[in-house]
Amino acid sequence: MRVDLGTSFVLETRMSGAHYAEIRQALEEKKQELTARLERIHANVRRGYHADSKERAKELEDNEVVDALGNEARHELRKISSALQRLESGDYGLCVECGQPIKEGRLEVHPYADECIECAEFDEFRERRL
Ligand SMILES: [Zn+2]
Repeated sequence: MRVDLGTSFVLETRMSGAHYAEIRQALEEKKQELTARLERIHANVRRGYHADSKERAKELEDNEVVDALGNEARHELRKISSALQRLESGDYGLCVECGQPIKEGRLEVHPYADECIECAEFDEFRERRL
């Protein structure tokens, strides 16, 4: 069950326009950083394999790590893009699950969080039980 805390709570936790601009900038910077990181990862992969078979085994191993890093960066990029979209549409800072505002402290730590702490914890709890 979810508790409706009422509109006064919503108004209190809604952020000012200036704060949104800061968040947008932080998101754009993070997006650029991740895009650059992905490009570096791809450049490493494109260097290809050496003919030597021992070298090759090691490089395949490295590429698995590179893949994991790439997936993580891509996952983060998707989150950032959707956060930027929500900034545009005015849905930013609202939980996609329950529609309640995400606390400002949480957004400072996770600027592209799309769920409030309660819903995120509930998801975690549910995953652990599955
Ligand atoms: Zn929620």
